[in-house]
Amino acid sequence: MKKLSLKTLGSALTLSLLFSSTQAQQVETFPLSSVRLLPGPFQQAQQTDLAYILKLNPERLLAPYRREAGLSSAVKSYGNWENTGLDGHIGGHYLTALAQMVAATGDKDATRRLNYMVSVLDSCQRKNGDGYVGGIPGGKVIWAEIKNGKIDAGTFSLNHKWVPLYNIHKTFAGLRDAYLIAGNQQAKGMLIALTDWMLNLTASLSDEQIQQLLISEHGGLNEVFADVAAITGDKKYLKLARRFSDQSTLQPLLNQKDQLNGLHANMQIPKVIGYLRVAQQDQDAAWANAADFFWQTVVHHRTVSIGGNSVREHFHPATNFTSMVNSVEGPETCNSYNMLKLTEDLYRRQPSSAYVDYYERTLYNHILSSQNPEKGGFVYFTPMRPQHYRVYSQPQEGFWCCVGSGMENHGKYGQLIYAHDASSLYVNLFIPSVLTWKEKGLTLTQQTRFPEEEQSRLSFKVTKPTRLALHLRQPLWAKGFR
Ligand SMILES: [Zn+2]
Repeated sequence: MKKLSLKTLGSALTLSLLFSSTQAQQVETFPLSSVRLLPGPFQQAQQTDLAYILKLNPERLLAPYRREAGLSSAVKSYGNWENTGLDGHIGGHYLTALAQMVAATGDKDATRRLNYMVSVLDSCQRKNGDGYVGGIPGGKVIWAEIKNGKIDAGTFSLNHKWVPLYNIHKTFAGLRDAYLIAGNQQAKGMLIALTDWMLNLTASLSDEQIQQLLISEHGGLNEVFADVAAITGDKKYLKLARRFSDQSTLQPLLNQKDQLNGLHANMQIPKVIGYLRVAQQDQDAAWANAADFFWQTVVHHRTVSIGGNSVREHFHPATNFTSMVNSVEGPETCNSYNMLKLTEDLYRRQPSSAYVDYYERTLYNHILSSQNPEKGGFVYFTPMRPQHYRVYSQPQEGFWCCVGSGMENHGKYGQLIYAHDASSLYVNLFIPSVLTWKEKGLTLTQQTRFPEEEQSRLSFKVTKPTRLALHLRQPLWAKGFR
């Protein structure tokens, strides 16, 4: 970044300019609704994703939920992972993707679609009658077994079903995001009812039995339960979040030990996001440090240039990347999606530019490239194998995990461009965008064609006299920043 120009319009704006690397104080990111992308590759990816999302048939995504609630559906569910055991997982991701699009673009069709999805899921939850809502085939049978203490868990199975806890985590997260990101009040009540169902289901299980459940892939259930504790202020959900925190991954991290070799990578990252969310709710420095240790380990010892990690979904030895370079199954997009979520949380806790350096690298070199730029569709593995190729999912056909996280990825580019505390504004990323900071009466327009040009223009407009410290991130790659 060679040149920076600042321009102020309207009332007086007093700026203290700071080039930031590390700050000790906590910051907040702006809601997605405060940031609008301007033309450029990120806005283009957002618009491609919006079109992809709206072309999906909500009835087909809802079919598994209706079926499990005993309600009829006019159409069949989608195929691929949506009718072979992971039925309904995309429906959860879809709520999150829509909520983000509603906030990031204000699109009316996305708003209508989100409200419709939530209302049908609400009717499924009411029909189930006990707070449960989910698309897992025959889910009610295994939930009853688990309630009675019958637990048969493998890494990718639970009571002979394909990762039902992973699946239902998407429903939890979707309802949370419909409420927190898009303000859908109906989703809030449904989220709490679903969490109460899980509380009731596991009330008579011992901590050891819950740890047994957690052998099976379970996304970030501890994360969503900690969020429900934050939403309600009720500590019983925080207790549930702690009970759903896998000790086998947590204990080495608490002791600053990297024991990740051979583990399924994307099973671990969401758990760690959960440890950090619990730590934030409970002021638990040890758990927060464990999450940061995990981040440092993965980013500095297990990550390649594009920001991705792992081979064939698993962590290879930190000292030997040969298998990743040889394999056709290189870094998985879900892993980078989750690493970015973890990075956002760590950055809010301590706004060091080191977090954003990783975030930027992964955003440009992995996430942005994981979308088919013409018709949407997403990459599962990005091979590091020389001269290899990548495979995009076919819209309406492919419904892998990375399709679910993929449709979320391109709606949240506004998430970390800016941050703030009471008297400071942080400019983290050089992505063309308009920030509206309502409380300050401030509008910031950032214009840049970076990385096609080595400059960015920041224009400020304020409605009242304002004093502000402006922190501009000095990227690791930028020498001679001025
Ligand atoms: Zn994936």
